[in-house]
Amino acid sequence: MTDPRRALVTGGAGFLGSHLCDALVAEGHNVIAIDNLLTGKASNLDHLRNDARFEFRRLDINQPFDCGEVHYVFHFACPASPVDYMAHGIATLKVGSLGTFHALDVARKYNAKYLVSSTSECYGDPLEHPQKETYWGHVNPIGPRSVYDEAKRFTEATTMAYYRTHKVDTRIARIFNTYGPRMQLNDGRVIPNFMKQALRGEDLTVYGDGSQTRSFCYVSDEIEGLLRLAKSSEHLPVNIGNPTEFTILECAKRVLAVTESKSKLRHEPLPQDDPKQRRPDITKARTLLGWEPKIDLETGLRLSLDYFQKAAEENTISAQR
Ligand code: UDP
Repeated sequence: MTDPRRALVTGGAGFLGSHLCDALVAEGHNVIAIDNLLTGKASNLDHLRNDARFEFRRLDINQPFDCGEVHYVFHFACPASPVDYMAHGIATLKVGSLGTFHALDVARKYNAKYLVSSTSECYGDPLEHPQKETYWGHVNPIGPRSVYDEAKRFTEATTMAYYRTHKVDTRIARIFNTYGPRMQLNDGRVIPNFMKQALRGEDLTVYGDGSQTRSFCYVSDEIEGLLRLAKSSEHLPVNIGNPTEFTILECAKRVLAVTESKSKLRHEPLPQDDPKQRRPDITKARTLLGWEPKIDLETGLRLSLDYFQKAAEENTISAQR
């Protein structure tokens, strides 16, 4: 992707979508971001507004859409935190199905390269550990997380069908827990929750006994992996995540250390179907893309501290109004 070509990013006002827009503009592309702002925030793109190479349109991709010729389609539209996708279950299923068809139709019409954000949730509460791309997963198809898990599994199936049937030049990234600036403070995910609580001196809410594990990737590493995948010609899914695994208790301790907070831990009930363990096997990304994350959790939390500090202050002020 060295030529200045036009890239479309669905979900461009979201956490990952907006960072992707930044990276594409920095690489010299003309970027059109579209978002219905259900969970994305237009302010994530404020800094790009006056850039001639950038355009934002508020648009619902569950209706057929066409923003003119594009050379790349990055399909990132979808509520992504458990709190958000459970609150917007039907919208999540629709964007994973209808939205995906429409994004693929655009890629097909313009013969554009296509990359979709899929998820480690395709593996469900995994029985294979760490998770390789060849693992089919252990997903509850009717539980509270199913709206997201099955939407993304459907997205993957649809993407493979367009590749096989229409020869669309598709790629599938399975994204594991990612964090960094522009995450919504109140989206309920563990790092924003813990950062907000630690910075306000509130108890950190550890769900269950905190022995469940996650593997956290800093956003700049994630975006680098996604761009490398976009430039590759791999059509089958590729895990893009950080393979260093932490228990949620260890994660809480890292947050307390980085924020120098004296907050205590408070245990709350574990949500239904909360995966007990999650860690990507990234052999495929290493071999195929020459990619691996560089930023460890503590460094990434330090890099995010300013953002969370400001967000926590603004949120407190607006809550007092
Ligand atoms: N979690 C927690 N306290 C919180 C928020 C989340 O202990 O305040 C736990 C949650 O139960 C899960 C892990 O942290 O085991 C990661 O949750 P998150 O919502 O960030 O995303 P998930 O990986 O489950 O999609």
